[in-house]
Amino acid sequence: MKREKPQSFNTVPIKERLTIPRQDMPEQDALLRSTNFLEVNLGFTPEQAVIEAQRCIECKNPTCMEGCPVNIKIPDFIQLICNKDFMGAAEKIKEDNSLPAVCGRVCPQETQCEQVCVVGKRFEPVAIGRLERFVADYAMLHGNGSAKTIEKPKPSGQKVAIVGSGPAGLAVASDLIKEGHDITVFEALHEFGGVLVYGIPEFRLPKAILREEVANLEAKGVKFIKNFIVGRTMTIQELMTDEGYDAVFLGLGAGLPRFMNIPGENLNGVYSANEFLTRSNLMRGYEFPEWDTPLYRAKHAIIVGGGNTAMDAVRTAKRLGADEASIVYRRSEEEMPARNEEIHHAKEEGVQFLNLVNPIEFIGDEQGNVVMAKCLRMKLGEPDESGRRRPIPMEGSEFTMDVDMVVIAVGNGSNPLIAQTTPEIETNKWGNIVADDDGRTSMEGVFAGGDIVSGGATVILAMGAGRKSAAAISEYLKEKVGSVT
Ligand SMILES: Cc1cc2nc3c(=O)[nH]c(=O)nc-3n(C[C@H](O)[C@H](O)[C@H](O)COP(=O)(O)OP(=O)(O)OC[C@H]3O[C@@H](n4cnc5c(N)ncnc54)[C@H](O)[C@@H]3O)c2cc1C
Ligand code: SF4
Repeated sequence: MKREKPQSFNTVPIKERLTIPRQDMPEQDALLRSTNFLEVNLGFTPEQAVIEAQRCIECKNPTCMEGCPVNIKIPDFIQLICNKDFMGAAEKIKEDNSLPAVCGRVCPQETQCEQVCVVGKRFEPVAIGRLERFVADYAMLHGNGSAKTIEKPKPSGQKVAIVGSGPAGLAVASDLIKEGHDITVFEALHEFGGVLVYGIPEFRLPKAILREEVANLEAKGVKFIKNFIVGRTMTIQELMTDEGYDAVFLGLGAGLPRFMNIPGENLNGVYSANEFLTRSNLMRGYEFPEWDTPLYRAKHAIIVGGGNTAMDAVRTAKRLGADEASIVYRRSEEEMPARNEEIHHAKEEGVQFLNLVNPIEFIGDEQGNVVMAKCLRMKLGEPDESGRRRPIPMEGSEFTMDVDMVVIAVGNGSNPLIAQTTPEIETNKWGNIVADDDGRTSMEGVFAGGDIVSGGATVILAMGAGRKSAAAISEYLKEKVGSVT
């Protein structure tokens, strides 16, 4: 169906719009913030949001929407901001995205909606992500809209189990609860939110936001059960046969850390990024001694990798008191998969970047603590299958550096538990679940989406996959019973 062009509330003439500079988002001072875990970005003021919204030229063909994996009606919500109807703008986004306060903070807009914004062809693109964050925060501050007033739909009598409470699982819960199904989210950990709580640190995404989103879903009737490992506490078959779930969605994520398989990775002081960030975030290491998870204060912490996980780990190490914290990355900055904003913030906070360097061994002292990293310098060759230039070791370039903490952030794989306990579900050679475009797996009534299917990706892609699965589950349930109101 063709989208209606929204009513324009922008009073600034088109030509003048292009002369308005992109609004800077206030942020904590770099020196100060590298010693605390409070949020770095402080968000737009209402005045800034309106000025930024007025930069939109209301394109006939809004390419920004095509750049968004869940097709948020971007020009529509921007016009509502021009009209200072911030609650209306939040509701408009929520039609397509149930976690705007999260996506406004962590989505890589520079490679999605903002990359294809027409204004961006000659000027800086409209700051769509910052606007999304602004209206989502505004709505949270002012009661978050509809949770209390929502009319509960007629119960369908059908039960759906969602395994995993990351963005994929939450997106499925949000869509299916509207249809009157009985929804339960099972989570292995003791907090809900997946990577959003155990991986992404407080200074990028405050946990209070996730708690509020979970509370909203609870208010709408979604049940949440923690410390429940599907495949151990109960299998998928038991959920379906003994507990009567009509369908199951698997949003298990890709939480199994990968290592480099080089000597010395088992020394004390060498962590996977997963363990390091979980200790700090989920087990509140960053609030020691109020919380009793101690984390080591390093003299020189190196973080191996160049993605968002590596940036989160290095900035966490710095905040935990490391005298020096360095990124060690085998390619150049241009090839780094991390968001530009994170690289920029890390540099401002004093993180060192050792690019075109690859560790080949970690060396320990007599007590088994890591004390040194042996590395090689690299140069770049032709692009490989990832499209990035291939790193090639430079002969005779070996050198060592003193380190007392190492965090390996070179990617994650899939946990094999479900494949081991439910052989009916087909997995591929990387252990990811094989599912069609709508999330159907090889097991009747079982759907999957997010990182467990795609491998490590992004929050918005996980949510998009969740929404597609929700639609397919809905169809499946209708067929199963014959009618769903
Ligand atoms: C440190 C870090 C930083 C990141 N930064 C960004 C960023 O800035 N922007 C961005 O877009 N993306 C980022 N990502 C990627 C993004 O977080 C993921 O793509 C996304 O969270 C995947 O969502 P998901 O729902 O598939 O899985 P997850 O978020 O991994 O959630 C899966 C959940 O399932 C639970 N689970 C697993 N197995 C079971 C089981 N057997 N029983 C019960 N529960 C189970 C897990 O405990 C977990 O809570 C980052 C990832 C990491 C690790
Ligand atoms: S592409 Fe940019 S300018 Fe055009 S409608 Fe979208 S946000 Fe506005």
